Amino acid sequence: MVVRKIELTKRQETIIQIVKDNGPITGENIAEQLNLTRATLRPDLSILTMAGYLDARPRVGYFYTGKSGTQLLTENLQKIRVRDYNSIPVLVKENVSVYDAICTMFLEDVGTLFVVDQNSLLVGVLSRKDLLRASIGKQELTALPINIIMTRMPNITMCEMDDNLIDVAKLLIDKQIDALPIVRPSENGYEVIGRITKTNITKAFVALGNG
Ligand code: ADP
Repeated sequence: MVVRKIELTKRQETIIQIVKDNGPITGENIAEQLNLTRATLRPDLSILTMAGYLDARPRVGYFYTGKSGTQLLTENLQKIRVRDYNSIPVLVKENVSVYDAICTMFLEDVGTLFVVDQNSLLVGVLSRKDLLRASIGKQELTALPINIIMTRMPNITMCEMDDNLIDVAKLLIDKQIDALPIVRPSENGYEVIGRITKTNITKAFVALGNG
């Protein structure tokens, strides 16, 4: 498979140049300069407007926003919120065994489990390596409770639905972890309402690259 680079077409580049030199300019006039019909040009104009290269004002026409591709990318990146890319969290109760947690991790096909107490509030996090580490000892895994091996509160890195995805990505790197619970603060703690992983960040990255 080859990696495909998403670029503006030659015609779109030309349109930007025309608008840069002549803007504000109507769609009709741009079409005239290119010897095309207004209808043929419509998809290109809407792509360029949606991508932020051009702006359109009613009865005035198109004008160049003056923003570079990198500037637009940064602006779009900063608009992405956690809620746009969240996944369903997989929760386990704190009194279950390491054996059960391993089974849940396989059955639910996730790399991180969030541990909750009897009030469904977040108390811990379990990663693949936490479970592997517990498994190479001599302990009986069905008798070993997860709350002995989990990373516990208050050392859990969390986020909320309205946080910026880019800030979550930075946290994943800084803390060297794979996932963050998305929480909603409640009276006595935090309720887990979602999950953000490196996969979600990769999906956002791809969507951004595809415009
Ligand atoms: P793995 O241990 O499988 O490489 P991680 O890098 O996600 O997976 O986890 C590294 C350590 O950090 C583990 O001990 C795990 O319990 C802990 N951890 C994972 N996610 C979080 C989080 N959101 N907050 C605090 N600690 C976490």
